[in-house]
Amino acid sequence: MKYEAVIGIECHVELKTASKMFCGCANRFGAEPNTLVCPVCLGMPGSLPVPNAAAIEYMIRAGLAFKAAIPEYSKFDRKNYFYPDMPKNYQISQYDMPLTQGGVVRYWLDDGTIRECRLTRIHLEEDTGKSTHAGSGDGRIAGSSYSLVDFNRAGVPLMECVSEPDLRSAEEAVAFLEMLRRTLMAIGVSDVKMEEGSLRCDANVSIRPVGSETYGTKTEIKNMNSFRSVRRAIESEIARQSAMLDAGERIVQETLGWDEANGTTISMRSKELAHDYRYFPDPDLVPMEISEERVAGVRATMSPLPIERFERYTKEYGFNIKQTTQLIDAPEIAEFFDRTVEVSQHPQQTQNFVLGDLSRLANESGVAIHRSPVSPQHLGELVALVEAKTINSKIAKELLARMWAGEGSPKAIVEREGLAQTSDPAALARFVDEVLAANAASVEEYRAGKSNVFGFLVGAVMKTSRGKADPAAVNALLRERLGG
Ligand SMILES: [Zn+2]
Repeated sequence: MKYEAVIGIECHVELKTASKMFCGCANRFGAEPNTLVCPVCLGMPGSLPVPNAAAIEYMIRAGLAFKAAIPEYSKFDRKNYFYPDMPKNYQISQYDMPLTQGGVVRYWLDDGTIRECRLTRIHLEEDTGKSTHAGSGDGRIAGSSYSLVDFNRAGVPLMECVSEPDLRSAEEAVAFLEMLRRTLMAIGVSDVKMEEGSLRCDANVSIRPVGSETYGTKTEIKNMNSFRSVRRAIESEIARQSAMLDAGERIVQETLGWDEANGTTISMRSKELAHDYRYFPDPDLVPMEISEERVAGVRATMSPLPIERFERYTKEYGFNIKQTTQLIDAPEIAEFFDRTVEVSQHPQQTQNFVLGDLSRLANESGVAIHRSPVSPQHLGELVALVEAKTINSKIAKELLARMWAGEGSPKAIVEREGLAQTSDPAALARFVDEVLAANAASVEEYRAGKSNVFGFLVGAVMKTSRGKADPAAVNALLRERLGG
């Protein structure tokens, strides 16, 4: 590799508040066009915006999740530009005093290596409406017969995360975005559905000779809406820029689009035509004051972050990357798992149950684990019973099925029905002797060299004990008796 890539990401994430950013209209995807609108989000003269408190709380949560600074004072600014799907002809955004500043996204690669990418800021703004260009044209405005505008999305709270250029490959950029997505999902601020447009991202890409400290000229790839597109677009752009430098050409700073079908970036506009947004403080909105008490109140409600779980699961519990990611990417299951471990005190055995038998029961019944009748308390009891060798794995399986059916505490069932495993030597000896006496022919066969009869005899002892015998103890005792 002759060149090193330098990549920064900007992404927009729709917040999943009940209502829009500055009015009471519902924030819902998929409704009939222009049914979730009012004078405020349609930009009618004389209407006044009122900030959504939940959206501001979500911003504080995101800031805390990424260890960003949450300044005491913050304000909204108007970003002026004309676009048909933006009814006010300006967007309410944040310019020089965003709700969060700095911060870092710690993410992991497929092999489990943890990397860091600093954040410049996360600010809050409102989304625009959505235009659909239709008719006989080619889908671009100029070639279409007509355009339709849906304002349901206008005014939906939108978080913009801007990263520092700390990423060095398409792989890192995608791993960073996956981390951003799983974290925002885990802290409950967005459902981050790329297919519904609630996460959209742009990438700044430049390259420089390996070892160089100065940045090359960057290009910006706009509006990619899948992680696959991000990976392909960045790889394609790195290859294009490398070929240009190899040929002695100069890279032009420009905005690019990504053509998924052809697998290439396309020039959209050069930087000379960049907008001057004429930002100024929105006179309809007073500056925000975020007290330390308010931040502390939000912090107190935060559950463990994905990166914290990742470090605990891999380092403390010794789980592999695949199982760790599987748990973390289902936040409700991870929460269920954590609460179970508090009771069972045995992470590995708990994970075996959660990702094994319990997941199987969930798949078969179509009921999610955290909504099933099996509580973390009860599963924790079951795991502890197995670990203490009070019950064997066969009884544990049967108990789990009964817990799934709503029978409650396994500890109570074991006590009530006397299911505790028998390791009392006298009782085991009685079971073994009973089986040996009743199966004299099999014992003869075993002694004549048919060693596979042994398994049958173990099974017979387990059956005689009604499944309660400790299989390891049965094995040892049988070998002792038959060996003579
Ligand atoms: Zn509205």
